[in-house]
Amino acid sequence: MPGKNLSREEARDRAAIIRVERYRVHLDVSAAADADRSTFRSTTRVSFACDAPGAASFADLLAPEVVSVELNGTALDPAEVFDGARVALPGLAAHNELTVVAECAYSRTGEGLHRFVDPADGETYLYTHYEPADARRVFANFEQPDLKAPFAFTVTAPAAWDVYANAVAERVVEEGAVRTWEFAPTQPISTYLTAVVAGPYHVVRDHYRRELADGGVLEIPLAATCRRSLAPYFDADRILDVTKRGLDFFHEAFDYPYPFGKYDSCFVPEYNIGAMENPGCVTFNEEYVYRSKVTEASYESRANVILHEMAHMWFGDLVTMKWWDDLWLKESFADFMGTFAQLEATDFQDGWITFANQRKAWAYRQDQFPTTHPITADIRDLEDAKLNFDGITYAKGAAVLKQLVAYVGRDAFFEGARRYFKKHAFGNTVLTDLLDALEETSGRDLRAWSAAWLQTSGVNTLTPEVARDAEGRITELAIRQDGAPLRPHRIAVGLYDLAPDGALLRTGRFELDVTGARTVVAEAAGRPAPALVLVNDDDLTYGKVRFDEHSLETLRTGLGSLADGPVADGLPAPSLARALAWSAVWNLTRDGLMPARDYLDLVRRFAGREANIGVLLSLHQQAGLALAVYTDPARRAEEAAALAECALHELAAAAPGSDHQLAWARFLAELATRADHLQLLRGLLDGTGRIDGLAVDQELRWSFWLALAANGAATVEELAAELAEDNTAGGRRQHTRCLAALPTPAAKAESWSAVVDSDALPNALVEARIAGFNRAGQRELTAPYAGPYFELLERVWAERSIEIAMRIVGGLFPRFQTVPETLATTDAWLERHPDAAPALRRLVLECRDDLARALRAQECDAR
Ligand SMILES: [Zn+2]
Repeated sequence: MPGKNLSREEARDRAAIIRVERYRVHLDVSAAADADRSTFRSTTRVSFACDAPGAASFADLLAPEVVSVELNGTALDPAEVFDGARVALPGLAAHNELTVVAECAYSRTGEGLHRFVDPADGETYLYTHYEPADARRVFANFEQPDLKAPFAFTVTAPAAWDVYANAVAERVVEEGAVRTWEFAPTQPISTYLTAVVAGPYHVVRDHYRRELADGGVLEIPLAATCRRSLAPYFDADRILDVTKRGLDFFHEAFDYPYPFGKYDSCFVPEYNIGAMENPGCVTFNEEYVYRSKVTEASYESRANVILHEMAHMWFGDLVTMKWWDDLWLKESFADFMGTFAQLEATDFQDGWITFANQRKAWAYRQDQFPTTHPITADIRDLEDAKLNFDGITYAKGAAVLKQLVAYVGRDAFFEGARRYFKKHAFGNTVLTDLLDALEETSGRDLRAWSAAWLQTSGVNTLTPEVARDAEGRITELAIRQDGAPLRPHRIAVGLYDLAPDGALLRTGRFELDVTGARTVVAEAAGRPAPALVLVNDDDLTYGKVRFDEHSLETLRTGLGSLADGPVADGLPAPSLARALAWSAVWNLTRDGLMPARDYLDLVRRFAGREANIGVLLSLHQQAGLALAVYTDPARRAEEAAALAECALHELAAAAPGSDHQLAWARFLAELATRADHLQLLRGLLDGTGRIDGLAVDQELRWSFWLALAANGAATVEELAAELAEDNTAGGRRQHTRCLAALPTPAAKAESWSAVVDSDALPNALVEARIAGFNRAGQRELTAPYAGPYFELLERVWAERSIEIAMRIVGGLFPRFQTVPETLATTDAWLERHPDAAPALRRLVLECRDDLARALRAQECDAR
């Protein structure tokens, strides 16, 4: 569609002449519950100035029908000025009034105004999600972050509904079966940050109060909402508790009063992402409302997300990037601040372990793709922007900010942030604006730092080189840095030795700057050579860590004993050092430098001793991946059997009712293929079997059913019966996944067709179909789809919304066909399609890279 993919140049040109004064938007969703109505009436009135009178410009709008367009009192013919994506605005005056009336479409893909009908009670729920550029699916606007304006929303909805938007409702007028909600104008914000949530949502209200330094009092009304049928599971008190703690923390840290009045946290269905920082109206994925027992890792991750979104109220909402090149300005900060605030303000004190273990793994993976990019990216257009919500923009950026805090100091960092907010409040910024503020407060020149860390791509590798003398003393300890470009790293090097109780404890630590290709740790010379040298101890920098031969041998026998302190009850406490060691051996495996069988052996021997539940869950996920794609195919069955045995053993050994017990139960379900393991799961389902302390609740039931379905040990009738017992949004998703996982050609064909031949499925069920279809254990069944996959890529990219297209391209890639032929087919497609959309090519290139990596790892494992 012409004009759908707004370019940076077009945005720049438009911002050069247009200043938006205000929007007034009316949405009529009073007939939303009528499934036959696919659209709603949207009326936008926008007042804006044009600095070049007589010039032409355009507004953005993605709508099936434009009813009328009026510019400065003159009616324009929609057939002439609307092309499906833009409304042409000819002959602008110095001051302009534009009114656009359109029929906009309810979304089933999570982009724009999403409509969801709850299977549990038939109620209809709506919410919006726009980032980066889907507000134009709901109302006509200038869809770019630097054209900020106050928005006044009016929403007409069924009388029984509540409506939430960025600001408070000033007036609610009831007329028969409908109520019209008039919301106060917002502060000046970007289009992508506006939000409307409407439906018979369950709500819990609270408030936050704070005395300000100037003697004033800040009152923030709080609300937390979810669908009615989820209300029994809604632990709003915990959510609001974290919210209040966060507000305390950010007010202290940023010294700028929360600028958006009230603070709603709306948990919404079929959400494409974790959460979105709409000012005053944060939307969260309702998967964060837990229907069944989850581990503490889930509560930690939810707290982290709440704080991440809250950090955006300042970084992102109050001060916003000019264009998507500087997306990192908000996402890296929010990601870093989410974990920082988690440690400062909540009881989740293992935040940096989770960060090292999960966020950085995401960054390292992304940064080794051929498509990686500097943290400050080159974003040509909206399709580029859409793909840049990635491991670089979030996790690497956050890791680099952690390094920056070590570099300029915490006080200078926060003082810089405070000045930045005051100077740029309600405005837009680029990289240099932030550097200016930080240079002012730290007195350091950050241009070289920025050039090395923000404006280059790729990850460095840090390897210790230990020379010993005959008496076992260090003659020289050096750190070798590889990978281009070399960067300045502030790091700690830890020396570890075995304590009498068996723990592997730190006996020495050196902090130093590593700058060139080789840096000698002078103070280490003459010390007894340790059992283990851990480079980047304390996880100060961003880089892959390697070991010297001796240290690697130590880890093979003692990884599980690596500890920050003495061993209690035979088990070491959660440890950042151990998490770093796990991360390092995972990177060795991914890089084809450690055979997958060795990694799996470490997991089998030491995962059961891992006290941090988040680390354990990562180990499960990584071991699953190692088994699926990094193991020599000739030995895959043997490794799979050994890992399943391990899961069974650890499940039996785990403390009754513990998070670890639940994690091992889920892992066993994932690995179960043997008749006796499947029998065990069936027994737990029908109540003939029991494991002390293990509550087989609804979510766990579905993971057992998935195992049975995928192994041909469950019937369609049984799955339907389970759905009848759990006729909910979650149940429907799980049931769909089970059906797609059935090991028959017919089941695969049906799911394939449902996803690629029709756009009838909503986003959540597309995802469930794909997850059930593409399974490691069903390579033979899905092999026939490797060819057709490449034939449909361009069609899918052209016809489907970008969100769904991304899921199909990434999700259906034949990633379990880990044979050279798949690589050849992928390369042939890339060669024949040099002009395919760059964002599509990027996705395929990343899948190709994962596949090539898997083949290298398999080769390593076969040696
Ligand atoms: Zn964010």
